[in-house]
Amino acid sequence: MAFSSGLATIDAVLHTLQTGDHVICCDDVYGGTFRIFDKVYKQLGISFSFLDLTDLTKIQTAIRPNTKMLWMESPTNPMLKILDISALSEICRKKHVFSVVDNTFMSPYFQKPLKLGADVVVHSITKYMNGHSDVVGGVLVTNNKELYEKFKFFQNAVGAIPGPMDCFLVMRGLKTLHVRMKRHEENALKIASFLESHSKVDRVIYPGLKSHPNHKLACKQMTGFGGMLTFFIKGGLNEAKGFLEKVRIFTLAESLGGVESLIEHPAIMTHASIPVETRKQLGIFDNMVRISVGIEDCEDLISDLAQALG
Ligand SMILES: *Cc1c(COP(=O)(O)O)cnc(C)c1O
Repeated sequence: MAFSSGLATIDAVLHTLQTGDHVICCDDVYGGTFRIFDKVYKQLGISFSFLDLTDLTKIQTAIRPNTKMLWMESPTNPMLKILDISALSEICRKKHVFSVVDNTFMSPYFQKPLKLGADVVVHSITKYMNGHSDVVGGVLVTNNKELYEKFKFFQNAVGAIPGPMDCFLVMRGLKTLHVRMKRHEENALKIASFLESHSKVDRVIYPGLKSHPNHKLACKQMTGFGGMLTFFIKGGLNEAKGFLEKVRIFTLAESLGGVESLIEHPAIMTHASIPVETRKQLGIFDNMVRISVGIEDCEDLISDLAQALG
């Protein structure tokens, strides 16, 4: 089912819940998802637990009699933690909790959550699926008949559907999804390796790097590592800002998944709606930079990063 935005898609999923229900969610979730949970649905009497779901024991103790839904992102945003979708979905199925994966970062090309046991997949097609940063949209996929009927009803009753021109643009973008995803990944891996060996970089997080704590699970669960990477520049806010002002090919902007490379500062931009203390607990420090690696010539991208770091 298609919707007018990723958030309208997420809203359609949340509409299946009722006052008194409980939701378990991964702790570093997309900022807008956190906001709709915390600022919209919490007011309606739905409660949320945000947990580090890389630790499977946490979910066992967090499931309550009123828990209805598990919300996952893998890789998470911006820490790029990998969740074991099969194991988590299995635990939930036994307790009659339905599981949802926001698969925006991977696209169906690199990860197929229904095959891993999830009940519902959502995508912001604003990102990789369209791929050209000129459409806002979302899709929802499920193999559960009962949920499908509910979603279908809300899609029609609420009416947050996409316009025909947007659908046309996304259909066109999808024709190159496989080519773009391969190139995003190829460039991201080269950039991650470059940054990891740079003296002005503290740490790089990219699921395709052997140094990533969940690298093995990433290899098992995904058929590629995607185009998103995060790194910590040596220093603090000033060093991060100075660097972001110096890049020329990368555009300083939120959003992700387009053919052009974007760069941003999570603490000030995408994750500003997350309370400071929570941000610190998650590891979103002021020296963190997030890159959505585009499909440009990789040598150009690396030399731009090199001059800006210099
Ligand atoms: C952008 C994004 C969304 C929201 O999508 P919109 O199309 O901008 O409403 C949801 N989840 C993730 C992971 C995203 O990156």
